Amino acid sequence: MRKGLAPELIARVLGAAPKYTMDDLEEKFPPRNLPDGAFVTRFAPSPTGMMHLGGLYGALIDCKLATQSGGVFMLRIEDTDTKREVADAVQIINQSMEKFGLKYTNDPQYGPYEQSARKDIFHSVAADLLARGLAYPCFMTADDMEKIRESQRLAGYPTGIYGEFARDRDLSDDEIAAHLNAGDKPTIRLYSLGNPENKIYCKDVVRGSIAFPENNEDIVLIKSNDGLPTYHFAHLVDDHFMRTTHVVRGEEWLPSFPLHVALFRMMGWASPLYIHTSTIDKIDDETGKQRKLSKRKDPEANVQFFLIDGWPTDAVMEYLFNIAASGYEEAKSKGVVKSIWDYEMRAKKIPMSGALFDMKKLEWWAKEFIATLPVPELVARVTQWANEYGTDTEKMQVADRDYLTAVLGIERDNPRRIRKDFITWRQTLGTVAFFWDALYTPNTEFDFNRDALREFLATYDANDDKDTWWNKIVAVAEKLGIKNGDVAMNLRVALSGRAFTPDLYSMMTVMGDARVKQRIEHAL
Ligand code: GLU
Repeated sequence: MRKGLAPELIARVLGAAPKYTMDDLEEKFPPRNLPDGAFVTRFAPSPTGMMHLGGLYGALIDCKLATQSGGVFMLRIEDTDTKREVADAVQIINQSMEKFGLKYTNDPQYGPYEQSARKDIFHSVAADLLARGLAYPCFMTADDMEKIRESQRLAGYPTGIYGEFARDRDLSDDEIAAHLNAGDKPTIRLYSLGNPENKIYCKDVVRGSIAFPENNEDIVLIKSNDGLPTYHFAHLVDDHFMRTTHVVRGEEWLPSFPLHVALFRMMGWASPLYIHTSTIDKIDDETGKQRKLSKRKDPEANVQFFLIDGWPTDAVMEYLFNIAASGYEEAKSKGVVKSIWDYEMRAKKIPMSGALFDMKKLEWWAKEFIATLPVPELVARVTQWANEYGTDTEKMQVADRDYLTAVLGIERDNPRRIRKDFITWRQTLGTVAFFWDALYTPNTEFDFNRDALREFLATYDANDDKDTWWNKIVAVAEKLGIKNGDVAMNLRVALSGRAFTPDLYSMMTVMGDARVKQRIEHAL
């Protein structure tokens, strides 16, 4: 510890006297009144302009743990890195949360929820540390620091501002005043008391207790350019005063874990419990090896991809959830639960490594999910997607809701034999595109049996029931001495241009008299 600064000097260092005392803040943000065992969690993205699939994974875990325990799930915008800020970034986060069904509750009592609007709070805590000699103003310039780093590299020491290299750690009041008089702007640094020769034990809910060397770096708490906090300091202050009980964050934060635990101890605050989640990986197409999803190489790293491409968001969430709570798949297939919101996940069972996201597996979840949708719901979702993200063609397909309903309703009346060939909304419309005249391409390759088509057409009646219709096909086959299936195949290809289609009779019923006749005649 160093000598603490007097209130007047603190006010000069921070640019203003602190607005709150620690007692004020404790009173302003009281412990939450929640049932025992309730989780208070937060999704805390930096507004970078994209929402990463790994972020969605973490947010889902946050949201689930909070809601299933009767707790609170918050959204906090970590916008303290003004250099990285992007227009519309907050809107992109909100839109993604909504589309993927993550509801948060930002109780105004614990707000504001944008860190840039919490400067008063950060400065008040920084003032407390300055007064207690646990932080100090540092006037080193970028140049000064580069020189130190260079000399550390040459001497083979770890780089950073610590111990003897922390030049301003023990400046006297007069020296500080002289810097301020000269117009120098300080950063506020931690006066670290840690010694890397000692171990600090940090408890992760999943990984258990991890031993780290103590942190001895005088890390920056408040930056000099904009007076905003660094992540380390903002996390400490916000998760304490927002009364977060569980911090779910990516494993890339493990190296800073000992620092964070030390900061909480220094404040005399109980730290939240931590869950460091595995990164979301994929199997690299070229190397066959497991690697992190890459923002640059993998379109699916950005959750926007799933929205644009028309993946059912529920299926994406089910798949992500099953990575975090692997018992879900079985519980769902046995009918024990209907959705992820019915399944109780265990924080301790969240995997600490190897979370794999495989598009093929997602296809399976998507097919299963779409298969359970009642037709009107399927139609509504396809329509909503097409109107928002679809091409003009796709918009045209959803314009006549009755026709779309009839098309998508084929083979969906028997719950035990539901078609499982729909994967995404886009692919669904593509699969059934031939039902629309503008999208139907006649098959020019198929060697049609014209007699079969002609004979069938002569007796075709759109009002026939399925038996009568089939008997006509049988009659044509007998007359021409060919197989029933051959007649059906000729009709199928004439009507759809394809060899594989849904049930032929249903297809013809949906297409209707005029369209059927016209396409058969065209083939002839
Ligand atoms: N803003 C941090 C990030 O985007 C949040 C980490 C955390 O949840 O504490 O990684």
